[in-house]
Amino acid sequence: MSSPSCALVWFRDDLRLDDNPALKAAQASGRPLALAYVLDEESERLRPLGGAARWWLGRSLAFLSAAIAAKGGRLILQRGRAGDIVPALVEELNAAAVYWNRRYGAAEIAVDTALKSALAGRGVAVESFGGSLLHEPWTVRTQAGDPFRVFTPFYRSAGRQAVRTPSRADDAWSFAGSARSDRLDDWALEPTAPDWAAGLRASWTPGERGARDRLAAFLDDDLAGYATLRDRPDLARTSRLSPHLRFGEISPHQVLAAVRHAADAGTASPADTEKLISELYWREFSYHLLFHFPDLAGTNVNRRFDAFEWQDDPALERAWRRGRTGYPIVDAGMRQLWQTGWMHNRVRMLAASFLIKHGLTDWRRGEAWFWDTLVDADPANNPASWQWVAGSGADAAPYFRIFNPVTQGETFDPDGAYVRRFVPELAGLPAGIIHKPWTAAPEVLRRAGVVLGETYPFPIVEHPAARERALARFARIRGD
Ligand code: FAD
Repeated sequence: MSSPSCALVWFRDDLRLDDNPALKAAQASGRPLALAYVLDEESERLRPLGGAARWWLGRSLAFLSAAIAAKGGRLILQRGRAGDIVPALVEELNAAAVYWNRRYGAAEIAVDTALKSALAGRGVAVESFGGSLLHEPWTVRTQAGDPFRVFTPFYRSAGRQAVRTPSRADDAWSFAGSARSDRLDDWALEPTAPDWAAGLRASWTPGERGARDRLAAFLDDDLAGYATLRDRPDLARTSRLSPHLRFGEISPHQVLAAVRHAADAGTASPADTEKLISELYWREFSYHLLFHFPDLAGTNVNRRFDAFEWQDDPALERAWRRGRTGYPIVDAGMRQLWQTGWMHNRVRMLAASFLIKHGLTDWRRGEAWFWDTLVDADPANNPASWQWVAGSGADAAPYFRIFNPVTQGETFDPDGAYVRRFVPELAGLPAGIIHKPWTAAPEVLRRAGVVLGETYPFPIVEHPAARERALARFARIRGD
């Protein structure tokens, strides 16, 4: 065999060309590049992507393929066990080294570790990099050397560490001969029968350019005021960068640098900048938890919750999924999720709290529904947030915090605009009543064309009774 020729870059959750440390190092090696993505739905314990995330992945890969083609190269697409495919590619391409950015889930780490030693055994070097987190999870430790379980000290400690400056890909591209590649369309990542993705297509532009444009729009329009307005689903003043970050179309380093630049330029206040940065660090904290509590989506971080008596209520769960609970703010959120693949953070908290506390439903069932329907379904953020709401997580909301969906709606959607948008059958109700239609006078309902129990449901559980029931159930595991 001729001497090894190329540098193989294996893309995973880092579907971008700029600020991609693995790609940058491969370019710096001076060898011609081979670029590949492997759709691995077979390796043991890997969690298959949900439907909305598959849709996103398909679009993002199409964008990445086109961006690489514009440089004169080709993204190799192969499907199957990464542990088989990557070594076969190394052989077919006669690669000297493989480059990737790290992943942090237990199953992914197992795949990568096994591959690294298998390739090393054949004399092929693997170089891995931190690409998608500001801080590698094992580098942030308490003074005793343990992982953090509480956000604030984690943030304080991580915030003291240096963060690399984002880089651009080199302009000089040189590509190796390509290998066999699947056609992206043959992976059928986008739904066809039925095609439920129209709302997703209307809402999002996956890909590195879409991510960059979204960041720019956020900096121009929404960063000013973010600290106070981020909790208002009716105003939509958050960045909506989450799916772009999830698939690595933009790195947190790029977001951080841009936000700091806005602060330095005086176009963003310290309060707004600091709030956004702390949200980026909540993402870091979720990954810290995932790394140190590998079964984050399956096991309570607080093991006392193992004894919690969850309830099976298929009717309530179905109503929750379809946005028919009778609580307008919860229903608006669940329908926003179904239509657009995304839900505002405040409403995610309310919807999750409703399922867990009003419905006494195991948080894992809600986590699984979000996993299937969110375009930003994230292996760390999703289970960490569900456990946070349940009270079973690290640094979780206290179990006795049971959101009142009416007062929460009135506080965070004061004019009812969010409800009107996603629950159009209530659009005719005045603001003062829209979050509690069952209290409206018959004449008000008639004028708005609302027939409770027909056009819109009565509340599926009553808040005060559900609250008492949840408190009593939680008290049992507290030992009261
Ligand atoms: P912004 O407010 O603009 O924040 C910027 C970025 O910071 C986000 O893109 C995100 O990467 C990060 N971030 C913001 N809030 C949080 C948070 N509370 N925890 C961790 N990171 C955060 N986020 C996901 O990315 N994927 C999920 O699967 C996910 N599931 C969730 C489930 C529940 C029950 C809850 C309560 C929250 C969940 N979140 C999840 C966190 C949060 O709701 C989203 O990150 C946020 O709504 C994304 O909108 P944005 O990009 O406009 O956020």
